Amino acid sequence: MKKVLITAGRVYTPHQTIEEGAVLIEGEKIKAVGEVKELPPEIKEGAEEIEAREDIVAPGFIDLHIHGGGGAEVMDSTPEALEKLALFLARHGTTGFLPTILAAPPLKMLKAIEAALSALERGIRGAKVLGLNLEGPFLNPRQRGAQREDGLRLPDAGLLRELITCGKGFIKIMTLAPELKGALKLIELLARESITPAAGHTEASFKEIEEAAQRGLKHITHTFNAMRGLHHREPGAAGAALTLDTLSAELIADGVHVHPAIMKLMLKAKGEEKIALITDAMRAAGLPEGEYDLGGQKVRVRGGEARLADGTLAGSLLTLEKAVKNMIQRIGLTPNEALSLATTTPASIINLSQHKGRLAPGFDADLIILNPNWEVKLTMIKGEIIYHT
Ligand SMILES: [Zn+2]
Repeated sequence: MKKVLITAGRVYTPHQTIEEGAVLIEGEKIKAVGEVKELPPEIKEGAEEIEAREDIVAPGFIDLHIHGGGGAEVMDSTPEALEKLALFLARHGTTGFLPTILAAPPLKMLKAIEAALSALERGIRGAKVLGLNLEGPFLNPRQRGAQREDGLRLPDAGLLRELITCGKGFIKIMTLAPELKGALKLIELLARESITPAAGHTEASFKEIEEAAQRGLKHITHTFNAMRGLHHREPGAAGAALTLDTLSAELIADGVHVHPAIMKLMLKAKGEEKIALITDAMRAAGLPEGEYDLGGQKVRVRGGEARLADGTLAGSLLTLEKAVKNMIQRIGLTPNEALSLATTTPASIINLSQHKGRLAPGFDADLIILNPNWEVKLTMIKGEIIYHT
């Protein structure tokens, strides 16, 4: 089996910091992690060496909520588009992701699911598809954000079963609005199918989220966006995200979707174990300013923001590379904390924490090398170098 030894100025596992660290990879797995001087010489015998003495090694990022980037979008519904997106993500340090399907008429959603599955079957280059995320169609029209109105549906167990069957066990997260009539039954159905039920694009009151949590709701989609604001007499879904410990919460850390002060509030309230950085990125992420398409709607990209003609935010232009850098440089998190939000925590939300999201013996060799300014220089997925500068 092929052996690779990476030596780095600093290794973040991410919970531990190892100065003058080394990671030994054997085949697709991590064999050992530790200080360079502590690794027994026989263990690294015959290993090809990658020297990154000025740099940082960390686990690869995991993006639970992403629609597009690098010119491609999940709703393009072709394996080629998904591969283009996966390669774009790998260039920015993401090693695993959940292609996220927007609300659309049922046939379109089914087509998007099928395209993602056929890409999985045939195997695409770039970041690994870890499952699928369905953002809709059972969303509240009053909080639809940039979701298309003609894609929204009232809770319908028959349609949900059809989507689940089509997903063949790969659907990991589904966002719905718990206050819609019949939604609680769907939350129970999702929980039984081991799909994480998430609340988003919702008008739910605090009490409605509390009830939904008792029925199996586990997660809050892009917290503070597409839900009512935090009010001291009606905390709503955002207040529930902050205070209910059983809920994990997504955060779009681009500095546009959520004010830095509110990011700090979220971190104080929940800690890094319950917050996952997501990008919610669209096609134009990584591309120049201009006009683009989001699931059939025109989006204008300017000054780091993507908006519909009426000014509604339409996804982000973020990469997790930038999000982690923002959390360190603008919010003041330690690298260990910031990296956890994009690695260990998302892995545990989709029950992959036994083999992804950390640098430890036996874990998948999904890792990145970053320069001291937190820019990705190399991405390795299952022991294979997918990208390097
Ligand atoms: Zn989204």
